[in-house]
Parts: sequence; structure tokens; C-alpha cells
Amino acid sequence: MSNDKKNPATAAPALPSNFLRAIVESDLAAGTHVREGMPSVITRFPPEPNGYLHVGHAKSICVNFGLARDYNGRCHLRFDDTNPAKEEQEYVDTIIDSVKWLGFSWDWQGPSGTEVHLHHASDYFDQLYAMAEYLIDQGYAYVDSQSAEEMAANRGNFNTPGTNSPFRDRPRAESLQIFRDMKAGKYKDGEHILRARISEDAMSSPNMNMRDPAIYRIRHEHHVRTGDDWCIYPMYDYTHPISDALENITHSICTLEFQDHRPFYDWLLETLSAGGFFTMPVPRQYEFSRLNLTYVITSKRKLRQLVDDGVVTGWDDPRMPTIVGLRRRGYTPEAIQLFCERIGVTKSDGWIDMSTLEGCLREDLDPKAPRATAVLRPLKLIVENFPEGASEACSSPVHPHHPEMGVRNFPFTRELWIEEEDFMEAPSKGYFRYYPPIGDQPGSRVRLRHGFVTECTGYDKDGDGKVTAVRVKYFEDSKSGTPGSDTYKVKGNIHWVSAATALEAEVRLYDRLFTDPQPDAGGKDFTASLNPNALETVTAYLEPGMKDAAADQRFQFERHGYFVADRVDTRPGKPVFNRIVTLKDSWTAK
Ligand code: ATP
Ligand code: MG
Repeated sequence: MSNDKKNPATAAPALPSNFLRAIVESDLAAGTHVREGMPSVITRFPPEPNGYLHVGHAKSICVNFGLARDYNGRCHLRFDDTNPAKEEQEYVDTIIDSVKWLGFSWDWQGPSGTEVHLHHASDYFDQLYAMAEYLIDQGYAYVDSQSAEEMAANRGNFNTPGTNSPFRDRPRAESLQIFRDMKAGKYKDGEHILRARISEDAMSSPNMNMRDPAIYRIRHEHHVRTGDDWCIYPMYDYTHPISDALENITHSICTLEFQDHRPFYDWLLETLSAGGFFTMPVPRQYEFSRLNLTYVITSKRKLRQLVDDGVVTGWDDPRMPTIVGLRRRGYTPEAIQLFCERIGVTKSDGWIDMSTLEGCLREDLDPKAPRATAVLRPLKLIVENFPEGASEACSSPVHPHHPEMGVRNFPFTRELWIEEEDFMEAPSKGYFRYYPPIGDQPGSRVRLRHGFVTECTGYDKDGDGKVTAVRVKYFEDSKSGTPGSDTYKVKGNIHWVSAATALEAEVRLYDRLFTDPQPDAGGKDFTASLNPNALETVTAYLEPGMKDAAADQRFQFERHGYFVADRVDTRPGKPVFNRIVTLKDSWTAK
């Protein structure tokens, strides 16, 4: 390893293999994409700006930007903005933010400076149009004037070949004239459509995508970027390969459902290359299986339904699998990247367990999250032999394995807060926390972590029989870290905060949004398995230093899990905390 570091030129990247890396490495070895002034690996992430990105998109982002990073290439962010009706600037902005937050950039240091590779398919509308005229001219496209219903009926299905349109053999000059008139706005939506004519018998192709696919349609719609310049818009299957080729993409990576679109992708680029539109070699498409994550839905449409129906508070609700939701919940970009690396890329469909993502999160947070104390379900503890108004300074490391992170200080006082569950009137077997004297047996002895050993002397109850306070005595010579303190042998060790200085704070205990591991599989109604306990809000007592927690700061609250100061609702001196994840997985065992 150390030799590799000294000589990067000969060092093989120490990356786990996957089929995409194998393809890229073999192309690099063969020099497939060596071109002047360009890297040999150029990928792209091509979202449609019609919603918020989710964890599935995060995988695609990590795959595409990750390959570029690992092989000295570049990755483009390209908005596939060819459907003016559904696209909005709000989505463009959040997508840009999300990709940046995940840790990626589309800037590339080229031979003549920084190149910014943020693109829009709409940048290519002129070229796309010119290429369509070329296809018509070459007999590879024609204007179809059937109604939408006729076209659907004539398309056939998986078992039945399609039927040629009566307009399929109309003269090229006639198609060209109508196409120009379509562009000039002489027709209404749906009156005509431009279709590819791949081969004589294309309408009987077993691949439905090859049956004279539509490449341009009339849409009298305002476009976010091109305004009212156009009233015809290119179809996705036509736009996508051409955008890839114009950007000199080398490896066009997408999910498996596009496998059947690849023959058209290849045909289109080959046909247009013959017309001299592109530099060779043209991009190649490769497919990998999409991410299916248990307890999560990743359809934009269904996520929108959760927002619209008020099941969640918005796209960035910490229970949402959107990137903005994960971010607000407290996920780190590093954890998401680690997760994508760990699950790898394959061609086989399957489900990844949510616990894998949560495991990556714990792995990332454990070494870096400062520790803090929080009592989530408070019960008063009274140290009867500790003087009222007095205070004893206590401290503990910010991180048990990183002394360089310093120490935190907090006072021990007569009244403290402990967790409700740390006291039992009648202890069950093996319970080592507080219980009162029973008969001639003394009460239990418990160490208050980083403080003193105490012995339970009694407890108070209200009229309803609810325990309102636990009473103890402390042993003055038992303070943690002082000589002789370890002569006290106790089995219970619990956390606490001083009632005199505790910070009262809202803590939101988040859990999975669904109880069914596959909430929408097989057309299931996902609203039927919404987890009623996906959010519980409590008023907790935190150690006093927590008042300075800034939005997005993450902590481990000892015994409870990882928490983040909510980026939306935290105010100076008044943090609101979200539980990111518990310390241990409580789902797999169920
Ligand atoms: P949705 O079905 O949720 O609307 P989409 O695929 O229509 O998502 P796009 O904006 O077209 O959304 O997606 C951009 C890229 O992200 C595409 O290349 C797509 O294949 C990829 N992608 C979308 N969902 C997943 C997923 N679950 N796993 C991996 N990649 C995904
Ligand atoms: Mg899509």
C-alpha cells in the first residue's frame, strides 16, 4: 500500500470490482475512448426535473459520479427537461443541491481551465431538430397523422405484430413540410407526430420499442428555459442518446428497465453518425439493477402522494427517503456513499435491507459523533444526603476513543433526572438499576455514570400510584476517577443530568415510515402499512452544553442513538433534535 501511494502512476486502484468497473477498465486498457482534450471516462446523471431525488437516485449518482472520480474522468449533471408540462425550477434547484450535498461536482479541470458540466437537454433543441430533418430526408422518419387511438391499436402487443401506418410511406418531402409546419405552430397538440422508421418490417419487431417509436410531438406548452420558442418537443428515447453523444459521454449508465431501449439507442447513434453528426466512438449504454430498499418506497408519484395527503410534513420530512429528507434526518453523505459502495452494482433485481443502510450510518457516525447525555423520559432522582444548592463538577470524554476531542463538564447536584425505565418498584430478575429496599434487603446500588455510587432508599408516588421521584443516598468517596472509587462493586451504571442545569428540549424520535418491508410490492396499497409510531415527540432533558448545538450538528446520546439538531426548527440556544438512528438494530430481531 505505501509503495502504491508513492507511485500513483503505476498503482492499480484498490477498488472492489463490479461489472461496470470491469467494463471501464477494459475500455481504458484498449484505449477505446482516447480523444484530444477529454478524459477517457465521461458519465452523466440525467434526472428529469419533475420531483425530488430519492435514495434510488443517490445510488445512480454514486455510480456515475463515482466511476468518474475513480478513473480520472468527469461526470455531467444533465437535466432531461423535454417534458415542459411537469418540470419546474424548484426541482432543478433541489437536484443541484442534493448532488452537491452528496459530495460530487460536475466541474472538470480541462487542458484550458475549469469546465462546468451542468447541462440541459433543452440546450440541444436546435441540434435535435436538425437531426430529425436529416432522418426524414434519409427516409428514417415520417410524420404520422393517425389519431392517438389508431396508433395505439396499430402498435400491436407482445403477442401480435403491429400494423404499418397508412402514412408510413408518404413522400419524404411531404413529411418534411408537415414537420416544419408542426414547428411553426400550424397544428394542434396530437394532430401529427414524427416517428422513426428503423426498417421495412420494424412494426413487427418483437421489441415494442422498435415499432416506429415517436420522436417528436406537438405540445403547445411554455418551457422553463426555452419559453415559447418551441411547440414541438423531442421524446425521451430520441433526446437521450443524442444528448449523450453531443456531450461525448463514454459510458451511458442506466437502470435495467432501459435494456429494451438499447437497440433504438444504438440504431439512432449509428444512423446519425453516418450523417456526420458525432465524433466517434459514440457512447454505449449499460444497465444495472435499480435499488429496492426495504421499508421504503422510491416512486416519485407515491412520494408526492404522501406529501399531498399530509402523511408527512413535506419532501424534507425526516421520515422521507428523499435526499432532502435523509439529510434533515441526519444522514451523512459519507454514509450514503459507503452504502452505495457496499451494495455494489449488479444486473439482478433484489431487495436491500434497510439495516444495511442504517449499519453504514452507524459505522460512519460512531468514530466522529461527540457523545452527550440526554434523558428522554425523565424521572426525578433526589440525592438525600447531598446538600441543597451544592454542586460537584463532573466530566467525561467527548469521545471514548478520541481523547483529542476533549472533555465535557457537567455538575452533580441534589436533584437529577434519570430515565423512567431505570427504576422498578418490584425488580424483575436480572434488573440491576434502581429498586427500593425490600424487607431487610437494602435498595440497589447503582453508579451514576461519571459521578457517584448511590443506594436507593425509597421513592415517592402520587395519588394515581405513579412514581414521581426516586430517593437515594450517595457515597462521597465513590466519585468516578478518584482513588479508591473502584472498590465499590456495582452492576448498574446509568446516565443522568442535573435538574438544576438541564436543558429542556424537544426531541423527535423517528422510526421507519412503513411496517411492511415491501410496502408497495405487487401493487399493494402502501398507505395500509404506514407505521403509526414513525414519529414520537418527547420533551427531554439534556446536559447543559447542548444548548449550543448548531443546526446539522450530530451527537451520540449515550444509550439512545445518534441525533442531529434539526436544520429547520433549531434556533440559537434552543435546539430541536431528530433521532437519526438507534444504537442497535431493533427491527431485524423482530
Ligand atoms: P421515478 O420512477 O421515481 O419517477 P425516474 O427514474 O423517473 O424515477 P429520473 O429523474 O428519470 O427518475 O431518474 C434519473 C436517473 O436515476 C435515471 O438514470 C434512473 O435510472 C435513476 N434511478 C431512478 N430510480 C432509481 C433507483 N431506484 N435505483 C437506481 N437508479 C435509479
Ligand atoms: Mg425516468
